[in-house]
Amino acid sequence: RAAAPATEIASVCPYCGVGCQVGFRVRDGAIEEVVGRDGPSNQGRLCVKGRFGFDYLAHPDRLTRPLVRISPKDPADCLDPRLARTKFREADWEEALALAAGGLARIRDRSGPNALAGFGSAKGSNEEAYLFQKLVRTGFGTNNIDHCTRLCHAASVAALLEGIGSGAVTAPFMAAAEAEVIVVIGARPTENHPVAATFLKEAAARGAALVTLDPRGSALDRHAQEVVRFAPGRDVPMLNAMLHTVIEEGLYDRQYVAAHTEDFAALREHVAALTPEAMAPLCGVPAEQLRRVARLFARARTAMILWGMGISQSTHGTDNTRCLIALALLCGQVGRPGTGLHPLRGQNNVQGASDAGLIPMMFPDYRHTDDDAARAHLEDLWGARLDPTPGLTVVEIMQAMERGEIAGMYIMGENPAMSDPDVAHARAALTKLEHLVVQDLFLTETAALADVVLPASAWPEKDGTVTNTNRQVQMGRAALPLPEGVRQDLDIIVEMANRLGLPWDYAHPREVFPEMAAATPSLANITWDRLEREGSVTYPCHSPDRPGEAIVFGDRFPTASGRARFVTAGLRDPDEMPDERYPLVLTTGRQLEHWHTGSMTRRAGMLDALEPEPTASLAPAELARRGLAPGQRLRLETRRGAIELAARADPALPEGLVFVPFAYREAAANLLTNPQLDPFGKIPEFKYCAVRVEAV
Ligand code: SF4
Repeated sequence: RAAAPATEIASVCPYCGVGCQVGFRVRDGAIEEVVGRDGPSNQGRLCVKGRFGFDYLAHPDRLTRPLVRISPKDPADCLDPRLARTKFREADWEEALALAAGGLARIRDRSGPNALAGFGSAKGSNEEAYLFQKLVRTGFGTNNIDHCTRLCHAASVAALLEGIGSGAVTAPFMAAAEAEVIVVIGARPTENHPVAATFLKEAAARGAALVTLDPRGSALDRHAQEVVRFAPGRDVPMLNAMLHTVIEEGLYDRQYVAAHTEDFAALREHVAALTPEAMAPLCGVPAEQLRRVARLFARARTAMILWGMGISQSTHGTDNTRCLIALALLCGQVGRPGTGLHPLRGQNNVQGASDAGLIPMMFPDYRHTDDDAARAHLEDLWGARLDPTPGLTVVEIMQAMERGEIAGMYIMGENPAMSDPDVAHARAALTKLEHLVVQDLFLTETAALADVVLPASAWPEKDGTVTNTNRQVQMGRAALPLPEGVRQDLDIIVEMANRLGLPWDYAHPREVFPEMAAATPSLANITWDRLEREGSVTYPCHSPDRPGEAIVFGDRFPTASGRARFVTAGLRDPDEMPDERYPLVLTTGRQLEHWHTGSMTRRAGMLDALEPEPTASLAPAELARRGLAPGQRLRLETRRGAIELAARADPALPEGLVFVPFAYREAAANLLTNPQLDPFGKIPEFKYCAVRVEAV
């Protein structure tokens, strides 16, 4: 008998912000193969995660029954899921939901709304993110709602909102096809946005001048005309020197600056003394190269800047971004084909989750909580009173837990017990919570500290929309039925809302979308039906039957004056400098094969086989100088903790710098990292702290 043909379901990859469209080929209730579809951001291409990263769906660790705590919490449970599992009993949904919502309601009624907080997910749909923040704001009654954007591009968004009035990209990464010069700084797209990297490489092959700037080398360097290897944590002096060059050599676009910007005089005065010669010793880049790159960018007819976590995950992340915005504005490189500012977004739906309002100081569409008109609009739409006071951010919520000010939390699809800086403190804080509800696929490190765990749906099991790094809103479709015992995330949020007193009856994301669009003016002319038909629509979109605007701000910026602002960035050291006891610098990040805290990819057989264990990478010369060899067990220690893992030699690293990926439970990089925050974007300094390395 011939086997039944596979059915192909069109959806979107659940990993990175590129938002590749995929076809899930399903046979006998399982994904047999994943193929790339002709989506606007991938044109049929996929990377190794999108192609092979789905067997986590049927992993034996998958939760299929709600769990209720029966033994006291212990931060050590984060290290051992089997031990953690013994601290829970299974419960039916009715009991688990009653306990989950009841505990939160008890704290709200006893201690007030601000004793509660919620973390939503950048890996769920827009509709789930929208409902989750609405639940926290109207059911809990607080703005203490945040998500992983606080740990990735919060600094970029802060600077973009301040400078150009919008936190999203001004152009898609495919605009690089028309750029004469492409600047990639603080990003490793070949590992973290692999399909986007293929378009950048193609642009370089067609003749664009690619400039890569990073303390670490990357595979993209092979395609670059200029490779700038600057000292870790010294972006601001390097970029100020380039701004100085463009202004003092008269290379800036006077007409553009006069017509579209303000505060140029303050920038000119600020960078007057920051010459390449003065900045070179600080940033470690020869003055002549600083001038050469500045001239290349300024003289280009079209140029764009793309950046990643290397820019934003820093105590001066907002300042870094201010410099990039200033460079683009000075040279008039915004608003035309081949130009633009593009922060490469990390998670598949971090753009959409932010747009939908998973942000403590802003409602959906980035309208401030203290904006009376925005609040009145939402109070009318939601039929509820809203608090004008901004809520706390991710790390501030952890600190408030430690002080005992936050007693209850609802966390959906986030894993702060692995992703927060100085994670031993984060785990201790989570352990102190009186009541923690976690909704996830697995007993993650965070779920191991919960009071109630609710088994949730995975992306290939759900319908919903997501928004990628290019502002493309895309339709995801369920390819598989839910495993028995598991419920849709959206249903769980609605059930929780009902038990917290909200009379919601949304049965499907298509019923949520129109309300979300009403709360989010940026989604005008984008409807569920249109997304069903077209698969992807870019916002802003000015007509129901025309494509959205890929490139924005050609004539005016969405600021009060219609102009963009130059904001200066002063020179500051990273928060924690190396010293005699901790003589090296630690930086952290992702790998091609593993996604964030590893909860999915470490349970995906092929991906875990490619990168099965934690490693600390150092320059071969650094290893040799310390008498260490690749493969040797190392102990890494910072002022906050220590981990043990294998040494790896990486010629792309400069001496003095150590790289550790943060996906590994058994050597959690964030036990080491510095929780100090950028004062504006409130993002921690994941990319720089002092570390000591020795053989075990
Ligand atoms: Fe998925 Fe990103 Fe890879 Fe595309 S590039 S397949 S979105 S992980």
